[in-house]
Amino acid sequence: MSKFTLVIHGGAGTILKEDMTPELEKAYQEGLQQALDAGYAVLEEEGSAVNAIKAAIVILEDNVLFNAGRGSVFTKKGVQEMDAAIMDGSDLEAGSVAGVRNVRNPIELAAEVMRNSNHVFLSGKGANDFAIKQGIKLEPDEYFFSQFRYDQWKSIRDSDNYSLDHTHQRLEELMKDKKFGTVGAVACDQKGNIAAATSTGGMTNKKYGRIGDSPLIGCGTYANNKTCGISCTGHGEMFIRTVAAYDVSCLMEYKGHSLQEAMHIVVHDKLLKIGGEGGMIGVDAEGNAALVFNSAGMYRGMKSSDGSSHIALYR
Ligand code: ASP
Repeated sequence: MSKFTLVIHGGAGTILKEDMTPELEKAYQEGLQQALDAGYAVLEEEGSAVNAIKAAIVILEDNVLFNAGRGSVFTKKGVQEMDAAIMDGSDLEAGSVAGVRNVRNPIELAAEVMRNSNHVFLSGKGANDFAIKQGIKLEPDEYFFSQFRYDQWKSIRDSDNYSLDHTHQRLEELMKDKKFGTVGAVACDQKGNIAAATSTGGMTNKKYGRIGDSPLIGCGTYANNKTCGISCTGHGEMFIRTVAAYDVSCLMEYKGHSLQEAMHIVVHDKLLKIGGEGGMIGVDAEGNAALVFNSAGMYRGMKSSDGSSHIALYR
């Protein structure tokens, strides 16, 4: 049995203790802990990395505090359009969905694309049709309504601004106070198989069918047993332009860097050079974990069979 590990995130950005109430801080910590426990239990019972990350992400998608599933932000049209991806590092199978609506757990749909379609990436109405065909659970619009997300959207909906979650501010303020949503999980199971997944509502007030990095294999999500699994969060456009998740894998495979070193190079050098704020979580084939971000904070947690475990919000 090799060391097994689960890491999760719930978004990165200007997450500062002074902006947090004790109640909200506790709610975030509890939400992360629940997800971590659910995913880790799967690994402990000799379940697969894929099943462990799905279990963790479903809990985060069901939690209104996180910008994914139920807590997804509003688009310019006042609806929720969600993106998700999952990748199995043991066989490089992958499944993604983009711009889906009313799907309770987009990660379940992405997994269904991975296992039961001949495709990797489905979008919009077609992805929704596939969800119906596969019996994936749908919810009415009201399920996805939350007052704080609505207020967040209302404050910018009449402008061309778009914003990166968990904020009530306008763009000018956003630029100095960025917070990103999105949830992610990466695991290495007892057999040494790695898997990674990411799920998001994207950006508040997004339009023209904007899609971020989260569902793009190699950008926001990647897994390969030879190297690592990665899930990203942050300003998606920059993570797409740097092919961030795959770049970590390449730095390990072709240059011999450790997971921590490779993530450090991508997050603190390559992303920062083009103004890419955010972070990523990763696990390598030995079950080592790394959680790296260049923003003020990242909602995050890790638990490993070597006894290490933590939840943290700030730098
Ligand atoms: N990366 C996500 C996106 O650009 C947002 C986030 O991580 O908060 O859609």
